[in-house]
Amino acid sequence: MTERYERQERLFGREGQRKLGEVKVVIAGAGGLGSALAQQLAYLGVREFTLLDPDRLSHTNLNRLVGAYPSDLDSSPQKVELLKRLILQIAPDAHIDAVPKSVVSPEGFAAVRSTDYVFGCVDLDGPRLVLAQICAAYAKPFFDLASEIDPDSTPMTYGGRVFFSDGAWCLRCAAEVDQEEVRRFLMSESELEQHKRLYGLDVGHPEDSGPSVVTINSVIASLAATEFLVEVTGLRRAAPKLTYRGHEGKVTRADIPSHGNCPVCATWGQGEAAGVERYLNTRVASQ
Ligand SMILES: [Zn+2]
Repeated sequence: MTERYERQERLFGREGQRKLGEVKVVIAGAGGLGSALAQQLAYLGVREFTLLDPDRLSHTNLNRLVGAYPSDLDSSPQKVELLKRLILQIAPDAHIDAVPKSVVSPEGFAAVRSTDYVFGCVDLDGPRLVLAQICAAYAKPFFDLASEIDPDSTPMTYGGRVFFSDGAWCLRCAAEVDQEEVRRFLMSESELEQHKRLYGLDVGHPEDSGPSVVTINSVIASLAATEFLVEVTGLRRAAPKLTYRGHEGKVTRADIPSHGNCPVCATWGQGEAAGVERYLNTRVASQ
């Protein structure tokens, strides 16, 4: 199998290839972003995967879920099982834990605690911030992927971004999450009912409601996989934030200043003392 990686070892060396084969990764979210990412990591030589996603395949996923086919619809498979199949077709020697659960579950927390790198490929800011908090508590380098398409904006914007955190900043202090969306996500059942009565908002999971395009997802997944690659192999440090502005046809890099008083960053490496396990007792843990 040595020749298999010869062409890429010319970029980052045999030692870099060895490192890629040893690191453990968690991919939270097995949709358009997660599937494109999983495919690329498997080709790169990553062999230790935990996949998290509670959802099953639906018709509307077939425009973008890499490795899912119309013939799969009959059996309504879990998305994590489709990703597992995809990875094993590329890398039969991979070890894959396919967990049909949300990040906010005992299994999700355990997976993050025991991994080397975490990829957030979720749609919503609630689970996105919880994931960032678990990664901070257990000092796990965290790549967060988001595609952002707003057909109603003027001018119309589309693209996305890849965010990388390893302790100096997080999604919260970088203002990368909608705190109102996070607050709704973390409401108790009774708070949620009250909120719905007052505002009449549908605060459930708007799954498959937003625009999603395979090519844009794939750009974001490729940026994330490349930043992971350079970080692991030592070519350079991963960029804190890369933004793909598809409507302008460009990718830009931004650095993020450290915020000394961020409550999430303050918990870096504190483990259980950070208190993130409290989320396991909330409404969202049973979704
Ligand atoms: Zn922070």
